[in-house]
Amino acid sequence: MSDNDGKKTLGVRGGGGRPGQVKQSFSHGRTKNVVVETKRKRVVVPKPGAGTAAGRTSGVPKGDPSKRPAGISDAEMDRRLKALKAAKAREVEDAAKREAEEKAREEERRRRREEAEAKERAEREREEALKAKAEEDARKLREVEEAKVRAKAPAPAADPAAAQAAEARGTGKTSSAPRKTDREQPKQQPRGKGGHNDGRRSGKLTLNQALRGGEGGRHRSMAAMKRKQDRMRAKAMGNGEPREKVVRDVKVPETIVVSELANRMAERVADVVKSLMNMGMMVTQNQAIDADTAELIIEEFGHKIVRVSDADVEDVIHSVDDAEEDLEPRAPVITIMGHVDHGKTSLLDAIRHAKVTAGEAGGITQHIGAYQVTTDDGALLSFLDTPGHAAFTSMRARGAQVTDIVVLVVAADDAVMPQTIEAINHAKAAEVPMIVAINKCDLPAANPDKVRTDLLQHEVVVEKMSGDVQDVEVSAQTGQGLDDLLEAIALQSEVLELKANPKRAASGAVIEAQLDVGRGPVATVLVQNGTLKRGDIFVVGEQWGKVRALVNDKGDRVEEAGPSQPVEVLGLNGTPEAGDVLNVVDTEAQAREIAEYREDAAKEKRAAAGAATTLEQMMAKAKADETVAELPILVKADVQGSAEAIVQAMEKIGNDEVRVRVLHYGVGAITETDIGLAEASGAPVIGFNVRANTSARNTANQKGVEIRYYSVIYDLVDDVKAAASGLLSAEVRENFIGYAQIKDVFKVSNVGKVAGCLVTEGVARRSAGVRLLRDNVVIHEGTLKTLKRFKDEVAEVQSGQECGMAFENYDDIRANDVIEIFEREEVERTLD
Ligand code: GDP
Repeated sequence: MSDNDGKKTLGVRGGGGRPGQVKQSFSHGRTKNVVVETKRKRVVVPKPGAGTAAGRTSGVPKGDPSKRPAGISDAEMDRRLKALKAAKAREVEDAAKREAEEKAREEERRRRREEAEAKERAEREREEALKAKAEEDARKLREVEEAKVRAKAPAPAADPAAAQAAEARGTGKTSSAPRKTDREQPKQQPRGKGGHNDGRRSGKLTLNQALRGGEGGRHRSMAAMKRKQDRMRAKAMGNGEPREKVVRDVKVPETIVVSELANRMAERVADVVKSLMNMGMMVTQNQAIDADTAELIIEEFGHKIVRVSDADVEDVIHSVDDAEEDLEPRAPVITIMGHVDHGKTSLLDAIRHAKVTAGEAGGITQHIGAYQVTTDDGALLSFLDTPGHAAFTSMRARGAQVTDIVVLVVAADDAVMPQTIEAINHAKAAEVPMIVAINKCDLPAANPDKVRTDLLQHEVVVEKMSGDVQDVEVSAQTGQGLDDLLEAIALQSEVLELKANPKRAASGAVIEAQLDVGRGPVATVLVQNGTLKRGDIFVVGEQWGKVRALVNDKGDRVEEAGPSQPVEVLGLNGTPEAGDVLNVVDTEAQAREIAEYREDAAKEKRAAAGAATTLEQMMAKAKADETVAELPILVKADVQGSAEAIVQAMEKIGNDEVRVRVLHYGVGAITETDIGLAEASGAPVIGFNVRANTSARNTANQKGVEIRYYSVIYDLVDDVKAAASGLLSAEVRENFIGYAQIKDVFKVSNVGKVAGCLVTEGVARRSAGVRLLRDNVVIHEGTLKTLKRFKDEVAEVQSGQECGMAFENYDDIRANDVIEIFEREEVERTLD
């Protein structure tokens, strides 16, 4: 046996059933057994319960993350998650018990090992002593022998060879002294050579077996796996001490991509993937796993999981409660609601002009979505300048309860109308007090009392009918009753005792937001608590930023804005959405972290929503159970106001069979992300006065996602209505085929205006549909009357070539307009 062999065994690998025992050889042909230090098992063993739980406790239906392929139903997921949780609770118990047992066992093992080692050390020392003694004896014997030889043959005895020969002979046999050695040797020899073979080794083996017996086969396989991991990690960390493991707190959101998990644990991706595979989960590094599975993995690697949720990340925001003494009265925030044409806008304008114009130099107020006025009594009121219920509800839906008081406008010459009722319901749902403004009282046909009685039917009992809802007769036209209205508002506000703490970090709600060409993303924020200052770092919805400038409703730059004050905020990294909540935080890192978290969460939510309602599934479902079919759409518009108006209009479309569902809406160009979402849900993308950027257009073409451009809301509504009613039949898909730029416009008799064009992309086709775009806005859609190459009428003109085009029934074409050429093909189950 060579040292090498010994080392190999030392590695505790090999199928040898006795890890931990090693034979080493020494000089003089002796060998001995060494117990291999296996302390690091301690790291490994306590976890098996957790680590292999998925496999071992197989009787439990538990999450078995292994068996969770994508695309299982929510209920199923729920059931599994619940089972997983229960199983995990059990495991935690088991693991704790096991850990305690294991600890005790380990302690015992260590103690015995130390004993064994001590014993062996003592043995070795004894051996050494004996050996020394034997050598000493031999030496003495030699000396005696030599003396004898010298005595017998005194002359040539100095020859060393002869002396050696004599010695050899001497040790081999003979005389009185050797007898003593003979007596010694039987004891010594077996020890020197074979001592480790039989008696002692077998003893040790028994001991080892005893030592290991405790763990038995039960833990070995799991332990083996972990040892292997430990070894790999040790290797990865350099040949350094594997014990120097850094235990990390690993932040895990609801789901995490495998590679990111590895990254956060500072482990190798391959190890993590392998580990997942051992649990029966075949995933790649780019796939996401849920937090429960991640927890198993993290435990397996010996780290600690820190679950991150909204609450955790956003803790920094909600942590402060205002002390009573810090609270100061604040202005009420008022929203004007009512049926279309009952005079909401006129009333808002009348109030603004009556109160603002007089005081302000120039008198021009800027529209930022909200404004403040001071009543004659000095009360400050903040009006939301975004009439319409969509704004109100969409804000509420996004968690921003902005409005303190609703002014319900009802025209005195009309009656309570559907939207009046809607407004009443909204106000009631939001538990916001209402004030009824009976408008158009200047008209001869005005009948305010009819309005009052009408309202009774909807459980709105005004003061004049002995109720507690204030009612004021006004005229936006003449200004009659405006002051009374403002007074009523101020009174209501006093009752509400609205307070805020101007001294704390600001929070507020986005009233309007848009991408301004010159100034970048701009959001009008109504500060709700605290004071927003220039330089503040904030997070708003999925965006964040640092206040670069604040502009008030009069268009002035201000340094700060307190509670109930609307301001335009500049310095955002992206455009938030109306209703998004703004919070000032301490550091950019916090702001970014929260914004990123929200973005991811939103993405996942959208993806989940998309996955659950692909057009196919929707159709299948609609057919199967004959419930309401939904037409999903995505809306992008040039300004928030349009987007919201569209959403509102869309939500109204629908009957018992079909309904339109706006998956997402926003401001700005149509991007690849939009296309992705649309594709996932089988939804068309509606561009209202915005275009898709090139990459989005390409992706849409590839994926067959329909993009439709509109600049007139009614067209959009009509089209969607048509699509909705035709949802269940075969439909038509549109393909973009080319772009042409108008270079010049000629008048041709009998034909009308003809555009001299250059085809810049794709082809121009005579039979195709065309759209005329001016400044990225669609201004006409129709067909071609003529497509000419030089003097000839042609069917097609390729990219890079010039041609003449004229529209059927449309003449308003100018140089620099762009003609978009598209074709429609009939496809089953798509939308027109
Ligand atoms: P909104 O759709 O509720 O915003 O209503 P508007 O403010 O656009 O008003 C609709 C129409 O009613 C406009 O033609 C206004 O001029 C008119 N109007 C609004 N208020 C009054 C009013 O007090 N008296 C009269 N005579 N007409 C009014």
